[in-house]
Amino acid sequence: MVSSVYRRIYFIRFPKEISDKPIIYRLIKEYDVEVNILRANILPQREGILIIEMAGAKQNIKDGLEYLKQLGVTIERLATRIRRDDERCFQCGACTGVCPVKALYIRRADMAVLFDADKCTGCNQCVLICPVRAMEMSLGEEWLETDAAAKAPLFS
Ligand code: SF4
Ligand code: SF4
Repeated sequence: MVSSVYRRIYFIRFPKEISDKPIIYRLIKEYDVEVNILRANILPQREGILIIEMAGAKQNIKDGLEYLKQLGVTIERLATRIRRDDERCFQCGACTGVCPVKALYIRRADMAVLFDADKCTGCNQCVLICPVRAMEMSLGEEWLETDAAAKAPLFS
């Protein structure tokens, strides 16, 4: 049943020692987890960063994450990097229409738009739709550093 599928987006960093190992393949094959790579910065013999969406049975995802941790991978829910700038938000409600998990919702009593960070999956939809960029996703310096490394010329 579709509603029983657990779906979360993770920001994962793995050490250079395992950057050439087929860990995503094993995650899919051995833990029966659907993995969708949303962004990747991986270079041979360098620390790698991936943003992946995992979907499947909650226990399988939990076991898969444990497998990654044992390899030395650091894992963070991408949702922890989603923020709302309350100074910018003018309560238009546009984001509540795209949030798939009702992490952004309207409190009927006073029509306030509220953000429940615990429910957020980190899907980024609100960031794309917010007209004043009140919703922000911060990928941090580490992403910029690997981005720069990925764009460095192969020959010089
Ligand atoms: S779309 Fe942006 S401005 Fe409108 S309620 Fe959501 S966060 Fe606030
Ligand atoms: S990133 Fe935004 S749209 Fe997506 S789940 Fe979180 S609050 Fe909702």
